[in-house]
Amino acid sequence: MSDDAPVRVRFAPSPTGLLHIGGLRTALYNYLLARQTGGTFVLRIEDTDRSRFVPDAERDVLDGLAWAGLAVDEGPTQGGDAGPYRQSERRGLYADAAQRLLDGGHAYVAFDTPDEIEAMKERHRTDANPSPRYDAATRGEMANSLGLSETEVADRIARGDEYVVRLLVPERQTVVFHDRVRGEVSFDTAEVDDQVLVKSDGMPTYHLANVVDDHAMGITDVIRGEEWLSSVPKHLLMYRALGWTPPRLAHLPLILSPNGGKLSKRSADRLGIPVSVAQYRDAGFEPEAVVNFLALLGWNPGTDQELFGLDGLVEAFDVERIGRSGVQFSMDKLEWFNGQHLRQLSADEIARRAHPAVEAAVGPVDDAALVAAADLMRERLSRASDLAEATYLFQDPETYDPAGLNKRWKDDSAGLVAAYADRLEADAAFTVESTEAAMRRLAEDQGAGFGRIVHPVRLAATGTSVGAGLFETLVVVGREATIRRLRRAVDVLG
Ligand code: GLU
Repeated sequence: MSDDAPVRVRFAPSPTGLLHIGGLRTALYNYLLARQTGGTFVLRIEDTDRSRFVPDAERDVLDGLAWAGLAVDEGPTQGGDAGPYRQSERRGLYADAAQRLLDGGHAYVAFDTPDEIEAMKERHRTDANPSPRYDAATRGEMANSLGLSETEVADRIARGDEYVVRLLVPERQTVVFHDRVRGEVSFDTAEVDDQVLVKSDGMPTYHLANVVDDHAMGITDVIRGEEWLSSVPKHLLMYRALGWTPPRLAHLPLILSPNGGKLSKRSADRLGIPVSVAQYRDAGFEPEAVVNFLALLGWNPGTDQELFGLDGLVEAFDVERIGRSGVQFSMDKLEWFNGQHLRQLSADEIARRAHPAVEAAVGPVDDAALVAAADLMRERLSRASDLAEATYLFQDPETYDPAGLNKRWKDDSAGLVAAYADRLEADAAFTVESTEAAMRRLAEDQGAGFGRIVHPVRLAATGTSVGAGLFETLVVVGREATIRRLRRAVDVLG
């Protein structure tokens, strides 16, 4: 791979559950780099851990990416020249690479049982070394091909003894690499264990399969979460041993809980933060808003601009501007982005997205009424489904907000509301201007303050004390319904 080869990036989820919101961020950053360089966005399913395999997970990844608008160029359902794109279908490649590592003396065969490994750790555990590793310091005392003769190894394998293949990590070396986010990073090999590369069931581990596939698929850039940073030395040792050029690396900052600390599934649950992309979709978040929010969760454009569509992100995105420090997840911010993106849609489109929630709340609604309601409320919605909370736009209120009544419903309210209803009977135009003018005239004629009328009228007409502009709201409710509501409130509230 030369430095100016066309960019090929991959999103490489393990199908162990629903697509995570952090996973979607990783996919997004990869996608943005691919699109802005005219490169290729590859989807690779890392399904070698059969014990954690979830059958529907791949489908969920595809649905999540499609929902977010991230089109995959090559992948298990898209095809491509570098396939197959599921690791379970590429086992021959991993076996070949493992054999090359063994032949070159960069890996070895180990027969130790889990109990034997545990006993070794037990022997070495001290306060200074609380978690001993299978590494240069301990491998000499274990049952592996480093100590056994060739015939012993061959016999044990022939006999059917279970074995794994481990990476032979060289002693006392410093592995230095450049990360596009973190700059120069170095690890001492004394901190690196002899990673299992092939498990006893013959399946490769993540580490071997990941390196083999990034090479075989011509991946030029790896962008992934920070939790993988500590795996890099193992991977680089394999690249070196296999004579391959590693891809450029960029590790994304951790996503933190609003309370600090890593946003784990547990902490997220406790705070009511959804973790899977499907939950955001089902909760009625706009995909454009989720994408915009995730883009800025770890990257910044270097300007004050906050609102981006996917195309704008493709243009503005810059790997070098990804931050190093953890970024705090904020549902409030996401809600804000959602409102901003929603506002940019046409009233028809908002109505379409709000329709299921509104219908669930008030039953069948007329299209024109829904569009008028969407247009009225657009500035006040953070999710399209919020429109369903303004039930008074579709049906007469049955109750009146007690706090509002307490504060706003005075002795003269019923009389003023009734008088206003009379004025509306005479207002054939029933526009925002005419309904407002009628109220101003009434206020003057009665020598009452405008506020003395406007608040009780809102309560009577909507049952609430907050909402969009009153006269705009009355027009959406309609003349007949408004008058009916005002009269009923006078009866009920007296
Ligand atoms: N399969 C790994 C995951 O689930 C991929 C990590 C990587 O991108 O190297 O995140």
